[in-house]
Amino acid sequence: MNTTVHFDLTAKSDYCDGTLELRGGQIVCAVNGENETVYPLSGVKELVQRTYSGCSMLELVPENGKTDFSDSVPVCRFSMAKLNEMGEFCKVVNHYIETGEEQEIPEEVLRVCPKCGRAYAKGVDVCLFCVDKAYLLRRTVQLVKPYVKPLLFASVLVTLSSLLSALAPMLNARLVDGYLLATDLPYDEVRCGIITTVCLIGLVQVSSVFFRIISNRRANRISCTMADALRKRIYDKIQRLSMTSMAKRTAGDLMKRVTRDTETVRSFITEHGLYALEKLISFVAVFVILVSISPFLTFLVLVPVPIVIFAIYKFWNRIHLRYEKQWRTESRVNSILHDIVKGIRVIKAFGTENREIEKFDGVCKKLFKVSASNEHFWALVFPWLTFFMGVGEFLVILIGGSEVVKGTMSMGQLLEFTLFLAYIYSPLRWLSSMPRRLGEFTTSLIKIYEILDEKEVDTDRADGEEFTPGDITFKNVRFGYKVYETVLKNVSFTVKKGEMIGLVGHSGAGKSTLINLILRLYKPDSGLITVGGKDIDTIPHEAYRQKTAVVFQEVFLFAGTIYDNIAYARSDATPAEVIAAAKAANAHDFIMDLPDGYNTLIGENGHNLSGGERQRISIARAVLRNPEILILDEATSALDPETEGAIQEALVKLTEGRTTFAIAHRLSTLKNANRLIVIEKGQIAEIGSHEELMEHNGIYAKLIRAQRQTAKLTKD
Ligand code: ADP
Repeated sequence: MNTTVHFDLTAKSDYCDGTLELRGGQIVCAVNGENETVYPLSGVKELVQRTYSGCSMLELVPENGKTDFSDSVPVCRFSMAKLNEMGEFCKVVNHYIETGEEQEIPEEVLRVCPKCGRAYAKGVDVCLFCVDKAYLLRRTVQLVKPYVKPLLFASVLVTLSSLLSALAPMLNARLVDGYLLATDLPYDEVRCGIITTVCLIGLVQVSSVFFRIISNRRANRISCTMADALRKRIYDKIQRLSMTSMAKRTAGDLMKRVTRDTETVRSFITEHGLYALEKLISFVAVFVILVSISPFLTFLVLVPVPIVIFAIYKFWNRIHLRYEKQWRTESRVNSILHDIVKGIRVIKAFGTENREIEKFDGVCKKLFKVSASNEHFWALVFPWLTFFMGVGEFLVILIGGSEVVKGTMSMGQLLEFTLFLAYIYSPLRWLSSMPRRLGEFTTSLIKIYEILDEKEVDTDRADGEEFTPGDITFKNVRFGYKVYETVLKNVSFTVKKGEMIGLVGHSGAGKSTLINLILRLYKPDSGLITVGGKDIDTIPHEAYRQKTAVVFQEVFLFAGTIYDNIAYARSDATPAEVIAAAKAANAHDFIMDLPDGYNTLIGENGHNLSGGERQRISIARAVLRNPEILILDEATSALDPETEGAIQEALVKLTEGRTTFAIAHRLSTLKNANRLIVIEKGQIAEIGSHEELMEHNGIYAKLIRAQRQTAKLTKD
């Protein structure tokens, strides 16, 4: 069982190779394989990770330790690159302190590239810096596998077209040597020969064009189908990503993968990959013909080729890194643009347009610099590669010309040879343009597979059984958004079916986090959540979602009609059910007053609804869902008293008979709650009814008094 991690700084902040191991109830620490120090865990409350300027430290906090950590024991120091690894170690040690069980450090946390030592990105089994060529090939094969047959068909057609057009130089040579330079043939025969050969050349060219058109049409169809399927796959996958995976990425980043990357991959495969077979076959065929004309001249043509191939190989990695950088900058531009469009009201309200313009200008300039530098690099490299490739052509004309003069080669043969040069250089030029194309292609391919390989919301343990909600129980639940920051600690409680619970606490205490766990948007790091006696993890997601509904403070309405927005909760709802839900949410009357009633368009370019109206649509959604577990996250904050009254009324109807968790800033709105759970710094501080907690005279009572005081002051 692996419980060892590596840290990288000594106590004096010098680089080192340090190891930390959880072994037999102790932490064993060694620096460069020496100086083992043992830290027993008895009498220790927690292992914490604390960040100072420039580095972080692991520290052991003793039981009853001081809150300012002044009596904690430093264990090791490490750079920011080790944050995740050390966070996982903390989790394992803290789990041991709580339960006495040793757990293994997850393997993916410890995976680092053997070449460069950088940690692998999550969900990706390749180092994005070193780029494993076998990985890329495997992924490309995976990608084109469903399209192999039509791609091969298009490839064969384009190869046929190419081979047909390669007959032209041979016919040209026959024209020159056989007829134009022939002195011993009768005029009629020469005339007839010229006409026949020219017609043949025409026929060959027309057939070549014909095959190319069919191939292009085929290729275009495959290319559109492939891009469409790929876009759909990425989009589907994004829908199924966990919140943790989503939080790592920006909207611009994800949008770029669905749109630009699929386009780059598509165009590479169908516009360049398609020609691989053609280039290879025409190269071999022309090579055989050239050798049959003059082996020596053929040798001269191919002299520079190995040098060029070596140069391409050398440039490959540099070019890939350059395109990776360009990708990241483009993604940043997209993200800023997305933020500006989404937050335009805030920008205008604060009059910060100029600041935003400057910010956007800044990233655009950076993108300009990066892409211009890439273009300059390529503009310098490509002509030189092409030049070296063509050096053989000079030699052929020089030496071939002198052979014609000497009479060892005919004029027609030299013409044929030089015309064929274009056919042998075409695959080589294609090859020399590859580093750039491959750079773009592999960057996009990696970015696409980064998403496709990412772990989905974990449904592995769901056993597909029907699920009947019952009591909700938290047992020693611990959770943090980042491995090194615990938000909820040792949370344990049981909520009876049908009970209404008010969640109370200071801002940042962890109320929304607790709700996120009930909604299964995140998984607890340790501990157990059960619903109706079943581990929440074993309940099929779909079944669980059907029984839950949320009313958030910030209501998100999709572009569409009001009807569609309510029916979003249940696609099979009948119009009568939608209207009944709107009525229950006190929304029917204001909807009927709108110009198009339920068909009124909302969202972008549509009708704008007030905060209270949006909130009531959101409640109607929840009513339509008819959930067993209901979450109200600040559902009535920021509303005027009259609207709040209407909404409160709707909420009272909605919460009847359902297990409800409600967060409310104004504690008076929780008066219907059966019990209140007070959360303080991620832990449960108090549980009980309003009366019990007032009598207890703790945090809740203090909060109530403070709010009453504020209300009184505002009235006065
Ligand atoms: P509350 O709802 O009680 O105001 P939250 O549960 O929203 O508190 O937040 C608890 C802590 O978790 C805060 O320190 C907050 O900064 C942090 N937090 C909340 N959401 C995220 C997130 N998505 N990623 C990282 N940290 C978060």
